[in-house]
Amino acid sequence: MRKKIVVANWKMNKTVHEAVSFANEINKYQDFRCDVALCAPFVALSELRNVLDKRFHVGAQNIYFEEAGAYTGEISATMIKKFCRFVIVGHSERRQIFKEDDQVVNKKAKIALKHGITPIVCIGETLQERESGKTSEVVQRQILESLKDIDVTQIIMAYEPVWAIGTGRNATPEQAEEIHALIRRLIGSEKTRILYGGSVKPENAKGLMQQKNIDGALVGGASLDVKSFIGICQNA
Ligand code: PEP
Repeated sequence: MRKKIVVANWKMNKTVHEAVSFANEINKYQDFRCDVALCAPFVALSELRNVLDKRFHVGAQNIYFEEAGAYTGEISATMIKKFCRFVIVGHSERRQIFKEDDQVVNKKAKIALKHGITPIVCIGETLQERESGKTSEVVQRQILESLKDIDVTQIIMAYEPVWAIGTGRNATPEQAEEIHALIRRLIGSEKTRILYGGSVKPENAKGLMQQKNIDGALVGGASLDVKSFIGICQNA
């Protein structure tokens, strides 16, 4: 039985002060049956780990794939591993805005694993790809290349259809489950948790997470407000 996990992706939101206030609020809740992780901006990681109850995990939203050196502005696995249990890699915003491809995602996942940080590897098709019937092909290619030479039992996968991210238009539970089942077949692991991401809210969380192969959620917009994030966790 895979334990559900709900992961907040705050993106470029929340000051350290705001992150701490969020942690103080969520610390009051005892009744979650799922794992919970907060993926915060780099500057908040240390303080968040200090304040957040140890029942909850801290994660980063990105990482660089080299160990150290002349990479101005980048952050290494060594720098974050003291605070982070997880790191998101391959988010569609990194793929689209920062032009990261599957090879880069693969290297980032590997350096994270090397340092004992669990990568949350994101994949998903664009609207154009879905509408032209290419969803399975895209998902298959992303899996093949971003997970090359990686032990899939050591990672978390996140299926995030790009057309559902930040749009308010979530995949239906059936649409999501179809792709989650495909991902599970392709990775060949019953142990690996596969999260759904894309406009998850307290109102749709239950239906999505009741699906056989949906093991939790990666939550953007609705994770910024502590009440709505808690609502999602309670529905997991
Ligand atoms: C995300 O960015 O990972 C995401 C799922 O965003 P949202 O929940 O806002 O669609």
